[in-house]
Amino acid sequence: MLRSLKDCDCAPRTAVVPDGYRPYLRRSKEHWGLIYPNRATQADWVALVAEMSDVQRLVHLTGRMTAFEERDLADRLFAEGKMAYQDALDAEALKLGCPGGANISAGPELSALRARADWAAASVTNTYNYNLAREIISIGEDVPTANRHVYAWRLYGSDTSWDKGYWTDKATEIAQVEMMTVINAGIADFHDRNGHLFEATAKILPYFAVCDLCQEMVDGNPYTTVAEVFRKYILPPHPSCPHHCQAMPKDKLTSRECADLWMGN
Ligand SMILES: [Zn+2]
Ligand SMILES: [Zn+2]
Repeated sequence: MLRSLKDCDCAPRTAVVPDGYRPYLRRSKEHWGLIYPNRATQADWVALVAEMSDVQRLVHLTGRMTAFEERDLADRLFAEGKMAYQDALDAEALKLGCPGGANISAGPELSALRARADWAAASVTNTYNYNLAREIISIGEDVPTANRHVYAWRLYGSDTSWDKGYWTDKATEIAQVEMMTVINAGIADFHDRNGHLFEATAKILPYFAVCDLCQEMVDGNPYTTVAEVFRKYILPPHPSCPHHCQAMPKDKLTSRECADLWMGN
């Protein structure tokens, strides 16, 4: 959640649409993608490591996130993302008076969720390895005589070490951005696939906003359709943003109409 204006990192708005997310773009033909603040690329940390002393390079080698850890993180993000996506479909169905029971077991949605998790895990890994390199270089400037024990203590040794502080903030941010992204994707997909069966207007909630972009989105309430929201905005537009699209159907469906809903199968 937003704690202060400083957390509302709206600028620069660098649009990054990873390859794996093209299924969303293709199917909805709408403004659906992802925005992240500048993420470090692999080349960034590799270049930094190339300039390091032998000790620093060894410290980075033992401390960096490996491909195995990246895979593990991707799997966890995927499992949680799939649950959150299905929950979002269920919530939309319930609003129409229909039973839930969403199940994503195949199809482009599943591939897109997998690609998103893989991309997010790669971003997290690259960013961690880049920041680790920056911290190692900074310790070296601070303590030119530092040996590996000094590096290890400063990075991991104490309760206030760099690594602990890094993950306390990052883990929360990553989880929040990823879950908000898939929940909004679920809402967008549900209305994209089922919108012909009913009418619904939409709002962007909560009304509370800290940055200009979020204020503009909230000021636009109410929207004529869910599709309009996702045509205009990418949700969430930045980390620590709690905003999501709230669909407001005008009527309930009959049980026969409920059976026609796309629920991910
Ligand atoms: Zn904002
Ligand atoms: Zn926001």
